Amino acid sequence: MNKDGLDVAPGLLPASFPRGMALLQDPTLNKGTAFTQAERDVLGLTGLLPPHVNTQDAQVARVLENFRRKASDLERYINLAALHDRNETLFFRLVVDYPDEMMPIIYTPTVGLACQQFGHIFQRPRGLFISTRDRGNVAGILRNWPHRHVAIIVVTDGERILGLGDLGANGMGIPVGKLALYTAGAGVHPTQCLPVLLDVGTNNEALRRDPLYLGLDEPRATGHVYDSLVDEFVHATQEVFPGVVVQFEDFANHNAFRLLERYRDRVPSFNDDIQGTAAVALAGILSALRVTGGTLAQQTILFQGAGEAATGIADLAVAAMVAAGMPETDARRRCWLVDSKGLVVAERTDLAEHKRRYAHAHAPVRDLAAAVNLLRPTAIIGVAAVGGAFTPDVLRAMATINERPIVFALSNPTSKSECTAADAYEHTGGRALFASGSPFAPVARADRTHVPRQGNNSYIFPGVGMGAIVSRTRRVTDEMFLVAARTLAAQVTEADLAQGSLYPPLPAIRDVSAHIATAVASVAYRRGIAGAPEPADLLAHVKAAMYEPRYATYVA
Ligand code: NAD
Repeated sequence: MNKDGLDVAPGLLPASFPRGMALLQDPTLNKGTAFTQAERDVLGLTGLLPPHVNTQDAQVARVLENFRRKASDLERYINLAALHDRNETLFFRLVVDYPDEMMPIIYTPTVGLACQQFGHIFQRPRGLFISTRDRGNVAGILRNWPHRHVAIIVVTDGERILGLGDLGANGMGIPVGKLALYTAGAGVHPTQCLPVLLDVGTNNEALRRDPLYLGLDEPRATGHVYDSLVDEFVHATQEVFPGVVVQFEDFANHNAFRLLERYRDRVPSFNDDIQGTAAVALAGILSALRVTGGTLAQQTILFQGAGEAATGIADLAVAAMVAAGMPETDARRRCWLVDSKGLVVAERTDLAEHKRRYAHAHAPVRDLAAAVNLLRPTAIIGVAAVGGAFTPDVLRAMATINERPIVFALSNPTSKSECTAADAYEHTGGRALFASGSPFAPVARADRTHVPRQGNNSYIFPGVGMGAIVSRTRRVTDEMFLVAARTLAAQVTEADLAQGSLYPPLPAIRDVSAHIATAVASVAYRRGIAGAPEPADLLAHVKAAMYEPRYATYVA
């Protein structure tokens, strides 16, 4: 397959190449009004299109005008989904050229709304829906997918969509959106991407009562039925698409950790909610330390939340401290978790397995505000999906304890954010080193304008995925996320830091991803787990492999 997704050289079209209306209705090949006169003549398109031939840039201007005319973000989402369905190249051109405007629509925060409304805004299917009724035939379903070069699958069971809970089959919006970011952010070819929704039912009663709900109308399967579906699916992925990377997405706690442990050493797989989040948050902390001047080992990090994101970030921070020479038990004591019952401490008997390694000896503490005053953290990281949890009191306390408090309000969507950017700066006298899960506009204050940036996983996972694909790694390891975090932090400039930005600008994402992919692939080669031959110049090789959303020439 070449970079245009064609199996042939331009100009040498196979007899099976679609013509006429079938070509206009194939989103992977369609160029719409940009088909040249020669292509229109040869491919039976004359008369099916208005006579004027557009450049791709002119088409971008048109779709942008229509996009901006929409009255709400949900309308913009529907508008982009329709473009994706009719002209994939133009869709990706738009996302690549206008990432600041498009990414919050195709992914967080708007994708959350789109998932909630999935059955109501549904137009055309995208991705594969595999349900518990399909057990025994999962490989057959994967073979129904029209593309044979699938290199990465994003799969969810819809049980914990963003901070919105169980959305059942409505969760398909997440793999679809995430894979669009693999393509836009790191140049993974669209035909290499496969979104999958495992429909095991839903416990969301309101959804099941909705006559327009499109998933199975039954409670969630558990136990053997659930496990056997996931197991059959994971094995089938490797049978049908050998070596394909499987990214687990938005599974609830009780499945996310154990599925990751079960499959990470068997197939190239990772969980972005745990590992991708960890890398992006660690990168933000490393950037913040360039401002404060401290080392990671000197930090006390307090998490509001004790789930996938919190323990994932804590584990990677510990790995980084250990790599810098700190004993693991000491490193773990630098990280503290608060869950819905208060501080996670050793004497508690109600703790799930994944929290126990951070259950330190300490008297019980009832909530975050009390924990801040007692532990005097240098950083607070909000990942509990409890909107407003960073109260003015918490923020003021952080500013009293620290000259430059690190405050990451990572919960999504925006309504779940622990505080707004304006609040973070307001209650810390403009001293907070702030990052967020959902986007916030720059905040103008008397001293200066702060430009907060999103601790967005999309800085990490596209590059990790591309690195895994390019090297054909047999495993996706923690070391890969550690190098991804360091690489991301290294892409932040002094000018970024000076305006309060702990991440690079989104328009730099493809360059950032190329460097992350290179670092990740290097680990695969160094550890002897790569399946592809090592190129002499890895960065150049990665860049050359990246899909560019430009039209192929079908007829010279
Ligand atoms: P999760 O369900 O695994 O964890 C949520 C945790 O919050 C649980 O441990 C729960 O005990 C705790 N919690 C619930 N109520 C609480 C309360 N009142 N006080 C303190 N803790 C409470 O979910 P997750 O995957 O860890 O994600 C959590 C949030 O972080 C979501 O909003 C998600 O969108 C967001 N997130 C953001 C990013 C990012 O911005 N890069 C990445 C991943 C997750």
